[in-house]
Amino acid sequence: MENSKLQLQMERVKQMIDEARAITILSHINPDADTLGTALGIFALLFKQGKRVEVVNASTQLPKHLDFLPFFSKLKHKIDFADSLIITCDAGSLDRFGFDLTGRMIINIDHHISNTFFGDVNVVFPNDASTSQVAFKLFSTIYPINAQTATAFYTALLSDTRYFTTSNVTPEVFDIARELVARGANPVDIAKNFTQRRSLSSVRVLERALHSLTLTMNGQVATMQILLEDIEATGATMPDMEGIVDYGRSLATVELAVLLIELKEGWRVSIRSKTVDITPLAKSFGGGGHKVAAGFTLSKAEYTQSAVKCHSQIATQITQLRILQ
Ligand code: AMP
Ligand code: MN
Ligand code: MN
Repeated sequence: MENSKLQLQMERVKQMIDEARAITILSHINPDADTLGTALGIFALLFKQGKRVEVVNASTQLPKHLDFLPFFSKLKHKIDFADSLIITCDAGSLDRFGFDLTGRMIINIDHHISNTFFGDVNVVFPNDASTSQVAFKLFSTIYPINAQTATAFYTALLSDTRYFTTSNVTPEVFDIARELVARGANPVDIAKNFTQRRSLSSVRVLERALHSLTLTMNGQVATMQILLEDIEATGATMPDMEGIVDYGRSLATVELAVLLIELKEGWRVSIRSKTVDITPLAKSFGGGGHKVAAGFTLSKAEYTQSAVKCHSQIATQITQLRILQ
């Protein structure tokens, strides 16, 4: 079923790319390794095909440890091509890209269960561990996968599977990882960029977040917060705070972990669970995500309460939704 649909989508995607005069590849705001690795991997493929292609991300803070990705220096922060074909990577809704895409043809490549199918073609496999897994299946029979694309796609897979530890790690994931390594991805070099290139700011801000850790509901819910003053004191950037919420979920008693990050304009909220589906919770706050990893943002206008109240409001909402027994 998935295969015959994918076959049709491959043909359609190839035709759209062949006919496009210019192509813009987009990754989501507050980018992670999956969105950037998938976007840069596709960029490498199309660039080698001689296509007129650009790769764009609306966020100005990019994760520095990902600067080893092929063509990282090609990432721009605005769309220069008019009327280009858009390829979106790793986001469930259009507002996650930070651009007005009205009237554009869109190929939507993703793995979020909350995906709204906003594209003209939607290649969305919610059971896949990373968007690069989706992209590999879509593109590997259309174009030869070169070493640069293999490096970018493998990096995305390594990161979104948290080093091959998430529940969606299947034999297919290892088959694709093996294939990417065979085609030139270097797993040792790539892993070093994740495990040996942390910024001091990221550790200092982690220290403050852990200090705020609060357990509620018999230790089942862990909440942490990072305030503007923590960000200012440590010099942390948004990428420096990725992964902190996982420390909450790492506790034996915890089923649900929440991290609130105060921004100038509002709050960014990350939620993780061990088993319960948290997408309804994220959606009830206007966000989205996956079954066990989701998030949302709230403007200050939506949320004028203090951080402490914000903490407890989240806990109340969780209780009301009865997602934990
Ligand atoms: P994060 O906690 O920011 O790492 O995000 C976890 C997951 O939730 C990611 O897969 C995101 O795509 C999704 N997510 C985070 N924030 C939002 C948001 N504001 N709207 C929709 N989805 C989100
Ligand atoms: Mn992502
Ligand atoms: Mn992803």
